[in-house]
Order: sequence, then structure tokens, then C-alpha cells
Amino acid sequence: ATETSALAVRDLVAGYGGIEVLHGVSISLESGQIVALVGANGAGKTTLLRTISGLIPARSGSVELFGKNISALRSDRRVCAGLAQVLEGRQVFGPLSVEDNLRLGGYSQPGSSVEQLEAMYRLFPILKEKRLLPAGTLSGGQQQMLAIARALMSRPKVLLLDEPSMGLAPLLVREIFAVIADLRATGIPILLVEQNAHAALSIADHGYVLETGRIALSDAAGALLQDERVKTAYLGL
Ligand code: ATP
Repeated sequence: ATETSALAVRDLVAGYGGIEVLHGVSISLESGQIVALVGANGAGKTTLLRTISGLIPARSGSVELFGKNISALRSDRRVCAGLAQVLEGRQVFGPLSVEDNLRLGGYSQPGSSVEQLEAMYRLFPILKEKRLLPAGTLSGGQQQMLAIARALMSRPKVLLLDEPSMGLAPLLVREIFAVIADLRATGIPILLVEQNAHAALSIADHGYVLETGRIALSDAAGALLQDERVKTAYLGL
């Protein structure tokens, strides 16, 4: 991590009650990069994302956004500071229309929401087509796109994605990873947390492997895809 890293996480320790889950995790995300964080079930991936976004308090360590220490901010203030998170399980508001879901995502940056809405419809034409329908009527993949677009409505400086492929049929998994790869054109750096290590590393620049609360490997994503340890443990090869 450098002073100009988009996101710099240093020595983060966090857990639940008497259980320490993260034992000093350091990762960084540079401008324009997609970084994949992969690891087995229970390694602490979700806990790390939630600690970065402030939903879980850090016991020690720090989180910096473009050189600004945001560790003391509540999660909603971190969103205002430019850190957006898409939670696991696509938390869209089912009864509300697609467009109202998007408007809610822009609440922290009033004024520019019409332009931003148009930008989202250019990125995700299917959402424009379905803009007046209740979000709950969309397919799983479309709801995931909506969750991502809603997070982008706040014009974030960094986007955190938690398991975007979870629960999607294989065809839709491919589609959602293609969408995430396309987001590279927006220039917004993305931290992508995934169980689907192969798909995540295939679109990422850099990758980290998290094992029981510690970073076990950190390398260029292409190098991790060729790494024998990664192949056996995470790629099923
Ligand atoms: P998954 O892909 O299954 O979500 P993960 O790598 O994201 O796995 P976490 O969900 O961060 O892992 O969980 C890490 C550890 O923390 C696990 O041992 C889990 O049982 C524990 N844990 C998670 N949430 C809680 C909680 N709310 N209370 C207590 N322990 C928890």
C-alpha cells in the first residue's frame, strides 16, 4: 500500500464476541484495479469486507481511502466518504420499482441523481427496460446488477462486492462477471470477494488468498491462477 492507494487496509483485527476471525489482515487496492479476495468457506472474507465498510468494528488496524484514515467513521459516513458496498445476497427492495431502488442508492449525493440514473441505464440497459417494475420481479442476475448499479449511484471512489455470483445459475454467473469486468471502464477500483476463485481471478488484476483470517498469498491474478497451491485448494484442478 502507498499513500495514494485507493484503499489501504493495514493489520486489521476483528471478530465476534470472544472469537477473533481476522488476525491482522493487510491488503491494498490501486486506482483502476479489480482486486479479487478468494478463500474457503469461513476464511473470513465477509468479515473482512464488513470490517472495511464499518459494519463490524475493527479491534485494531486501520482503513484508509485515498490516504484518508476512515477507521473512526460509522458505516454510513464511510459511504459518504466514497466507499460503497454491495452486500452478499443482493439486498434490493423487492416491492419498490427498479428506478426507486436506484434513487435510494443516490441519496447520499443529492443533486446529480438524474444524470447518474442515465449513466446506470447506459451501463445496464436491462434495468432501463425494467425500470418501472418491482425489483422483486427481476431474475437473480438482474437483481445483482441492480444491487451493483444502486451502489454506483452514490458515485463511489471504491466499490466492495461481496459474492456477486452467489446463488446464480452458471450462465448468469458468467454474465455477472462480464458485467464486473466492464465496470473497469468506469475507472472505479473494485474489491471483489468471491468463493468462485477461478472466475474472480480471471477478471482481476491482483489477487489475495485469505486462509483462516490471514493473507496466505498475494500476487498478480494471472500468477495465482497458475499457482499449484491455488489450483489444488481453490480451483479444483
Ligand atoms: P462464507 O463464504 O461462508 O461467507 P467467509 O470467508 O466470508 O465465508 P465469514 O463469513 O467472514 O467467512 O466467517 C468467518 C468466521 O466467522 C466463521 O468461522 C464464521 O463462523 C464466523 N462468523 C461469521 N459471522 C459470525 C457472527 N455473526 N457471529 C459469530 N461468528 C461469526
